[in-house]
Amino acid sequence: MAVTGALTETYELGPIRPPSEAYSLLIRVTRNCPWNRCKFCPIYKGDKFQLRSVEEVKQDIATAKVIHDKIKELAWKSGRGDDLRQVAAMVCNNPPNDAYRNVALWMYAGGRNAFLQDANTLIIKTPDLVEVIRCLKQTFPDIERITSYSRSKTAAQKKLPELVQLQEAGLSRLHIGLESGYDPVLQFMDKGVTAADHIAGGKNVVASGISLCEYVMLGVGGRKMWREHALATAAVLNEINPEFIRFRTLTIQPRMPLYNDVVSGDFIRATDEEIVEEEKLLIENLDCRSQIVSDHMINLLQEVEGELPDDKEKMLAVIGRFQALPPEERDNFKLGRRLGVYNSLDDLADSARHEGVSKAMEQLARDGEGVTDEVLFGLMERYI
Ligand code: SF4
Repeated sequence: MAVTGALTETYELGPIRPPSEAYSLLIRVTRNCPWNRCKFCPIYKGDKFQLRSVEEVKQDIATAKVIHDKIKELAWKSGRGDDLRQVAAMVCNNPPNDAYRNVALWMYAGGRNAFLQDANTLIIKTPDLVEVIRCLKQTFPDIERITSYSRSKTAAQKKLPELVQLQEAGLSRLHIGLESGYDPVLQFMDKGVTAADHIAGGKNVVASGISLCEYVMLGVGGRKMWREHALATAAVLNEINPEFIRFRTLTIQPRMPLYNDVVSGDFIRATDEEIVEEEKLLIENLDCRSQIVSDHMINLLQEVEGELPDDKEKMLAVIGRFQALPPEERDNFKLGRRLGVYNSLDDLADSARHEGVSKAMEQLARDGEGVTDEVLFGLMERYI
């Protein structure tokens, strides 16, 4: 089915969304990041933060509706009116532009979730954000969940009644990049917030009834501060008690300001084994009722997931299982993960996959490299 003919409508999309919003309708409410200084973050570097007018955003929502209706019409015209999912998948595989791809993907997934871009939507005036959310819900009444990113500082500065107003309008969840709860790490990384800001912002969001997802960056303390990072981060999370805690592992690319610190030796990167030890210390010290999620593909142990406090031992057992592997098996797993061969430790039992990774290890040994940290870092960075 040719679908690209007269399908020319488009609207503006930002560059990123959280992994859990992969199938969400994306609506860009602001452009880029008003802080834009975090050393580990290359996303918006060189791009100026801009507010978009409510009218402009509402126009994008209206265009998303036109695209949605055209995909539906296409389904009926092609005799597949009863199978909208199949038609959405076809549009998604051969989209005329990114806006069509996003709407089709969202429809394919059931059309229930929306994500407001970019980095700190909460910064706009509360009545404006309420208007955008209401417009989105009126245009697409089937949307059940609307989420966005915020900075802790902005969440701390919003008055609680304003956050409640946003929650009542339909803002379901905020994703906040906590990264660390240790002030020297936050300062070194130029995060622009303190542990106290994280606590104030996080507690404000929780008190409003908006679901909160805090992102923790494994490895962000490097070799020098990993222990303090783990302990202080656990302490901050215990204060906030967010609904979700998501792990994401530090990666480093030349386009990040942090790269210069690595080159100069001011930041010494932790290895996979060291990061796993940090993760263990962090989980051991968590005393909140949050759901741990490790769904970022860059995490070594994606199966470290569960509800606190009940699943704490289960999560620590995954870490213990990795740590108890003989060194060669650990290397096999690390290399297999970074090559995209394994998803979890259980995959080590798949003899075909295991043998394939063993062969790759032999090749690395013949090349005189072995499974070094540099080789693993290089493979990791292909994903971002
Ligand atoms: S606040 Fe978020 S988007 Fe902005 S620079 Fe820091 S990590 Fe990047």
